[in-house]
Amino acid sequence: MTDATEADLTGGTPRPRPDGEVEKIGDRKLKPATMMMGHGYDPMLSEGALKPPIFLTSTFVFPNAAAGKRHFEGVTGKRPGGAEGLVYSRFNGPNQEILEDRLAVWEEAEDALAFSSGMSAIATLFLSMVKPGDTIVHSGPLYAATETLISRILGRFGVNWLDFPAGATREEIDAVLTKAATGNVALIYLESPANPTNALVDVEAVAASRDAIFTGENKPPIAIDNTFLGPLWAQPLKQGADIVVYSLTKYAGGHSDLVAGGVLGTKAHINTIRLMRNTIGTICDPNTAWMLLRSLETLELRMSRAGENAAKVCEFLASHPKVEKVGYLGFLERGEDKRQADIYRRHCTGAGSTFSLYLKGGEKEAFAFLDALKIAKLAVSLGGTETLASHPAGMTHLSVAEERKQALGITDNLVRISIGVEDADDLIADFENALKAV
Ligand SMILES: *Cc1c(COP(=O)(O)O)cnc(C)c1O
Repeated sequence: MTDATEADLTGGTPRPRPDGEVEKIGDRKLKPATMMMGHGYDPMLSEGALKPPIFLTSTFVFPNAAAGKRHFEGVTGKRPGGAEGLVYSRFNGPNQEILEDRLAVWEEAEDALAFSSGMSAIATLFLSMVKPGDTIVHSGPLYAATETLISRILGRFGVNWLDFPAGATREEIDAVLTKAATGNVALIYLESPANPTNALVDVEAVAASRDAIFTGENKPPIAIDNTFLGPLWAQPLKQGADIVVYSLTKYAGGHSDLVAGGVLGTKAHINTIRLMRNTIGTICDPNTAWMLLRSLETLELRMSRAGENAAKVCEFLASHPKVEKVGYLGFLERGEDKRQADIYRRHCTGAGSTFSLYLKGGEKEAFAFLDALKIAKLAVSLGGTETLASHPAGMTHLSVAEERKQALGITDNLVRISIGVEDADDLIADFENALKAV
């Protein structure tokens, strides 16, 4: 048989969708929360099992030689439309395909891909888009590993980068894109809100700037890491992004028990990225995909509750005498930064549940607070059912240079908090008690 590498050269392995899929009742288009229970899965293909089994198999049997040939004709592009079934598990499997269908539903994306981690999703995206001499223009700061990947790893292969601050105005974005346009810009890569500054990127302004400066073939796609607010509170495809990236480890997985990533976007971009994923094998495994299917059934419930809890906790913290400031998107409307508040109104439907708490004092006070917490756990990460707290200056951002720390507001009195789905008043009691220890 032909080596599976031939299939690497293709757009992938689209599977025929289940018959009788319910996406509408009369004129009513069903909401994502409803579609998470059944979309993309036909029980009758799995002995009537209500839930999809976990398909632990490395390869898929062709019903006959002619069918196998047809698959490969599709897979190698000899016949348009891709393979008509599954071929080999480095390319795809039933659990991952159902997951991809359901991920796309939340943002009405044309297509989606599942990955073994947020970073493998980001790395596969970059590898599929850039070549030596190209420039990546990005907002800053980015997730630390993403910054490392761009500057230290892709930099070794002759890829250049230019950045603008996350809160940049149209004029500032224009200036950076104009400078970058003297070379070939392969990708515009955003992350919003930035961590830990919480600065929102004006995606509409980036898209308008891109469209004004680049034409035709030279127009780079806009990709955005939507891990902090998506898919419930921000849907950047609607503001002009072409590709959305996720660490599904966070809100989508939501139980701090798995690591995975996702990419959503137009069919054309997803096909480009799928080709790279097929080649290097950064797909998530069937078990993780199955766990994510379970997680997605409660995504809206979990995120809504965490968001409500965060609003109550932030109200409490903001009025506490030992608190200097609370960096919470929900307070933008009452703050001084009219521009950020304007982006928030245009781009977000909720403030999320991850925020920055600045205590009065320094490291001593921050550590006393963290060590006195009883419900909130001392751990990095976010978006889980449980509340987590960490100290960026001493943990996630320890190796960041001192001036850059100051510029980003990563001070010794900063605590990062991700609120979970516990009882809000219990959480307030925990924070109130811990503040007594400060
Ligand atoms: C966690 C995170 C990532 C990396 O995701 P992994 O699943 O840990 O690989 C990327 N971007 C953001 C914003 C994150 O929070």
